[in-house]
Amino acid sequence: MPYCDHNATAPLRPEAREAVERALSITGNPTSIHAGGRAARAMVERAREEVARLVCAESDSVIFTSGATEANALALRGMVEAAADTNKSITRLLVSAIEHKSVLKTAETIAERVADTRLEIVPVTTDGIANIEVLTRLLKAEGRALVALMSANNETGVVQPIMEVSRLCRETGALLLVDAVTAAGKIPLDAGLCDCMSLSGHKLGAPQGVGALVVGGSAPLAPQLLGGGQQKGLRAGTENLAGIAGFGAAAKAVLSNDEERTRLAALRDGFERALKEMLPQSVVLGEAAPRLPNTSNVALPGLSAENMVIALDLDGVMVSSGSSCSSGKIAGSHVLAAMGVADELSSIRVSFGWNSNKSDADAVVTSLVKLWQRARPRAAA
Ligand code: PLP
Repeated sequence: MPYCDHNATAPLRPEAREAVERALSITGNPTSIHAGGRAARAMVERAREEVARLVCAESDSVIFTSGATEANALALRGMVEAAADTNKSITRLLVSAIEHKSVLKTAETIAERVADTRLEIVPVTTDGIANIEVLTRLLKAEGRALVALMSANNETGVVQPIMEVSRLCRETGALLLVDAVTAAGKIPLDAGLCDCMSLSGHKLGAPQGVGALVVGGSAPLAPQLLGGGQQKGLRAGTENLAGIAGFGAAAKAVLSNDEERTRLAALRDGFERALKEMLPQSVVLGEAAPRLPNTSNVALPGLSAENMVIALDLDGVMVSSGSSCSSGKIAGSHVLAAMGVADELSSIRVSFGWNSNKSDADAVVTSLVKLWQRARPRAAA
């Protein structure tokens, strides 16, 4: 069945499956000093190196978590809390309007609960790029800031100006969290540009339930889970050995496969060309901006995202509407709203990945054309 929803979760890579199986055959807690424990520890440390390499970081800067939701919470809460213990408290959270809800909601809660800390939303342009002029102005205002900007958006694939934002943050003494979940493996990443970078294994072809926070040497960070002192005391809890081993293997596989990114870009571009040829009224959101090679966010004026997702599903084609949502219902997208996309234009996200091929892309086009032909009288009315 054509699966075109890699930004929601990617199928398990064979390399990750193998590593998971190897890990499951080991009995040992990575903190135990016996042979089993040492074997488990070696596996965790190898994976730490592999994940670090993906983002040009040192392995001791990688903290494994249960996913990027936890990594984002650790970064935001952990930096605010640790900074409060110094004379450089963070008083302003400057969060882009298109961040994942794990960042937006955590930042909202911090602003509600931590005295003298407020949340300011950084708008994006109609192309879906963080508005640098506004951010520059906000960074000049009084009060130490923590900026959150993702490297690329999960709904549109639009790549954000991290290099420039990193420079602005350095100049003004602000801290920077980069959610690199969607961009990881799709474009080169450099964790050295920020204080914290969050990653999620399952978007890369590792199992679900594992992620990482990559923490820069000078970033203040207070642990949010306390207990056995694992991972240098920054994230207690017995490590998810199988998940971590799979994450390392997926990171290694993606890094050693430059050809994958070139192939994905050709596949996505071919998909958009074919769609526009068959349905010239289709709109690609964020098209004018630099985008990840695998993501396409498309709308057909007059058709709702819900109709499109359901029609494609009935044809056995899996895509989603913008961000994946937990309720199973399709809600309006805060990302498209931030880009000023009209309410009437609802869109689907087609996202390809390591095992996608032309027949997957063709299946989306064929199904949308069928739907358009069925619905056209109503859509045109
Ligand atoms: N950040 C982005 C951009 C995401 O797309 C997601 C997942 O959809 C997350 C964070 C949360 O990741 P996880 O599922 O590992 O908690």
